[in-house]
Amino acid sequence: MTNQEQNVIRRVTCIICPMSCVGEVELADKKIVRMAGFKCKRGREYAANEVTAPKRVLTTTVRITGGFLPLLPVVSKAPLPKERIVECARWLANSTVKAPVREGEAVCKNILGLGIDIVASRDIEA
Ligand code: SF4
Repeated sequence: MTNQEQNVIRRVTCIICPMSCVGEVELADKKIVRMAGFKCKRGREYAANEVTAPKRVLTTTVRITGGFLPLLPVVSKAPLPKERIVECARWLANSTVKAPVREGEAVCKNILGLGIDIVASRDIEA
């Protein structure tokens, strides 16, 4: 078997801008050895992260009491590790906050110890 046969080639669509470049990332022993098809540095960084440590912004809702709506839309302040997204969403599904809440206010600090806050996406008055 040659080294080339052991390498893994991953196809990645960059979602950073509307150009939606589709490129390839070649991995050897889980290390990037070649990238092609991405038109800029931001895209190459996105693709590198996507194949080594993918992350996603989490948008969901949490229950809120004392407000005029039963649910508060929330978002992670930064992308979370993709493999922990479902766990974070489940944790938030079991959470309740109390009105009033202001847009941008942290409703969950340092979710699951990941160092990222979950913040309100809108105001909800009491
Ligand atoms: S590689 Fe650069 S130009 Fe292409 S989609 Fe990504 S950010 Fe846009």
